[in-house]
Amino acid sequence: MKTQNLIGGKWCGGDQTIEVTNPATGELIARVDSGGAEGAKSAIGAAFEAREDWAGRTAADRGAMVASLAGLMRRDVDRLAELMTLEQGKPLAEARGEIAYAASFLELAAEEGRRLNGDIVPGSSVEQRILVLRQPVGVTAIITPWNFPSAMITRKLGPALAAGCTVVIKPAELTPLSALAIGELACEAGFPAGVINIVTGEPGPIGDALLWDDRVRKLSFTGSTGVGRMLMGKASAHLLRLSLELGGHAPFIVFDDADLDRAVAGAIACKFRNAGQTCVCANRFYIQSGIYDEFVGRFAEAIGEMSVGDGMREGVVIGPLINEAAMRKVESHVDDARSKGAEFLVGGSRLSIDGLADRFYAPTLLTGMTPSMKIYREETFGPVAPVARFETEDEVIGLANDSEFGLAAYFFTRDASRLMRVAEGLEYGIVGANDGTPSNAAAPFGGMKHSGFGREGGKYAMDEYTELKYISLRL
Ligand code: NAP
Repeated sequence: MKTQNLIGGKWCGGDQTIEVTNPATGELIARVDSGGAEGAKSAIGAAFEAREDWAGRTAADRGAMVASLAGLMRRDVDRLAELMTLEQGKPLAEARGEIAYAASFLELAAEEGRRLNGDIVPGSSVEQRILVLRQPVGVTAIITPWNFPSAMITRKLGPALAAGCTVVIKPAELTPLSALAIGELACEAGFPAGVINIVTGEPGPIGDALLWDDRVRKLSFTGSTGVGRMLMGKASAHLLRLSLELGGHAPFIVFDDADLDRAVAGAIACKFRNAGQTCVCANRFYIQSGIYDEFVGRFAEAIGEMSVGDGMREGVVIGPLINEAAMRKVESHVDDARSKGAEFLVGGSRLSIDGLADRFYAPTLLTGMTPSMKIYREETFGPVAPVARFETEDEVIGLANDSEFGLAAYFFTRDASRLMRVAEGLEYGIVGANDGTPSNAAAPFGGMKHSGFGREGGKYAMDEYTELKYISLRL
């Protein structure tokens, strides 16, 4: 297990360390060296030094190395998944799924890098030709959250590398081990020194070093809307190119004509994956009056059967919350909803599990959700499903869009015309129509409104890491 920072092809120590703990047990797993601002500056220097050679290689060469990293991740899926469950808490089966998902971003990017074609555009006179090239943006800073410690890195890393950029990655302090494991495999894959650098530590100084260095040409950030907004403000001083993948508040709508088996299965997968700690998870459930009682009854039954515990244990589907601050946020949303009249059909409190840390929250279903509740507006980031009833299609589209966020939305119906109408009416970058788990590495993942801008995945991600240049050629 690597616990140092990767800078210019070398594993480097730091003046300070970050303690990484297992959220399920509270045990200390590792002390990771913190490179801090000085580490970030060295990493920028290494990435800058490496950029010409990397950009000058053929797309096939770069793609082969990116694909090889994906292959190593798949080879080591069990080891990487265990490491992820230990530091992040999600059940092992989900962690394995994340490693496969993370590898698929690299695989797709390796192919897309070979399709970065240009154009020849007609000139304005018979002697003129316009040649349009796509070139790498250059040194790219990548800042990622703790909830998907591998996939949020490779979703950026794959297209950046395939396009010819070199990178400096700052992973979340809570989950640096998964990032460093990717760095270790990158060394095995044979990436030249400086192409991939990883610096861990306190975010402010590292962030400032990345934002205020003219050698850095792009920041790709995934995290909360608050931090994204703050980084955008700072980045404006250098007009730094940005992609921001931020928070969400997804509506989940079930119409009277829905297939209820699929709707309940979709609701469980969408809401409770990663213990509800996902940007695209459902935050508001709207159920049409005609099937309200039946849906809520079946949803409550399915929630009541979920097994909570240490993600390393077979059969567990809900792991711990990441830390005490996350627990307090969930509790404050639940307390607020309770004080405003919500009723609890399942859960509604912390769980105490023998031998484990005080980090488990019971999967919860509450009814009577209203717009005045915190849970209606803010990300809860926990296993709590709030439900409200609605009557008409127009009404529910209005309710669903009544949010500052615009990342993901879901609805279930068997009416083909309604399917298109509702999908088009929802102001969200990702719409799951009869689908509670729409994420796919080939799709353009990203949000609208305060959920940010930029798209990640497949061919769409390549635009984020390339600049267009045209050459006007006189014959
Ligand atoms: P966060 O607090 O915004 O942190 C995200 C990253 O930013 C971490 O690496 C963090 O470092 C770093 N950071 C914090 N302050 C910084 C600063 N001043 N300068 C530079 N970097 C700074 O978010 P989180 O709690 O890790 O993740 C949960 C959030 O991410 C949720 O809002 C979720 O919806 C969102 N998310 C969005 C997507 C998407 O694709 N749209 C995907 C996953 C998660 P430290 O860890 O060291 O604090």
